[in-house]
Amino acid sequence: MKKIISIAGLLVLITLSYAQNIQSKSSDLIDPTLNERQNQFLNDEAEALLLQANRVLTNYPPGWPEPINRRSALLLLDGVFHDVYAPHRPAVQSFLKSRIKKAVNEIEQTEILNGARIWKLYNHGLIIRTRSLTIGFDLVSGKSANIEGFSVEIDDINRLINQCDVLFISHLHKDHAEESIAQFFINQGKPVVAPPGVWKDKPIYTQITHLKRVSNIIQPLSVKNGQEELKVIVYPGHQGENTENNVYLVITPEGLSFSQMGDQYNHDDFEWIDEVKNNYVVDILMPNCWTEDIARVAKGFNPAIIITGHENEMGHTIDHREPYWLSYQRKGILNSPEGNNDPGYDCPLILMTWGESYYYKKENYLK
Ligand SMILES: [Zn+2]
Repeated sequence: MKKIISIAGLLVLITLSYAQNIQSKSSDLIDPTLNERQNQFLNDEAEALLLQANRVLTNYPPGWPEPINRRSALLLLDGVFHDVYAPHRPAVQSFLKSRIKKAVNEIEQTEILNGARIWKLYNHGLIIRTRSLTIGFDLVSGKSANIEGFSVEIDDINRLINQCDVLFISHLHKDHAEESIAQFFINQGKPVVAPPGVWKDKPIYTQITHLKRVSNIIQPLSVKNGQEELKVIVYPGHQGENTENNVYLVITPEGLSFSQMGDQYNHDDFEWIDEVKNNYVVDILMPNCWTEDIARVAKGFNPAIIITGHENEMGHTIDHREPYWLSYQRKGILNSPEGNNDPGYDCPLILMTWGESYYYKKENYLK
């Protein structure tokens, strides 16, 4: 019973914290509790720290085992992003814009002959390219944070869409689904797959592809105007009890498999989560970093690697602006001084920030 209450409490907290997005402010002072000089100091500090984090992340790209310097840089980002007013600060806004622009430039120039490259974008947005196609998951601009200046430039969003062949949307929340982005895919004749409740009362609804939410049935999805076919399993996930959250397992023509979990958080769903490994080989699992019992999820999917998403979604208040340090603790590799350590999970964790990418080669992870 206690567990049920605590899970319900967490979900209420998540919903409330999302509902209480920091609104755009009318005052000139970013943080109204500080004076102009103090605000300027925090602007300058964010700029200096993000510049340093950028340098370290560039010199120590994502990999496993993870370079310790890289870990320090991600933890430095937590420090900057947990200023309540971080998304209002110019350095944070340009950090987002410039990192995504860099990723766009890379994606436009990247050809894959073997394996896959995975780019992490804002929040839980991901783009995966294999030899045959490019898949987008939960692509958003960041405007859900409702803060003027904090979003990816529209031109870069359009360039990202141009590079993708299909978009999978996990659920209706605005930090995962943006109607204008979905419409742009559809205008280009590219499929957009979403759960039944997304934009139900809007004209776009009839143009969305609705696959059956049922475990262990492979559904074909034609992409690239019929040139390629994906195999898709749509696990019937949930965020809480009422929000339908599609957990996609997508198998490419090369036989590589990727699962993005959206905002999965529902205890009853372990009924299918525990069984995934018995039916499919999963190459890359991309869960929300705060999903319920990530170690059990890792065991259920038994992927070659995990790439978590949803860290530092800036539209949330800081108590649900999930930090990198918690992703490390949940992995069991950044233990607390009290010795209250999470046992974690064995699967390699590739932790990335906005705009970074990782090249996955199956041969490196054969079990
Ligand atoms: Zn979310």
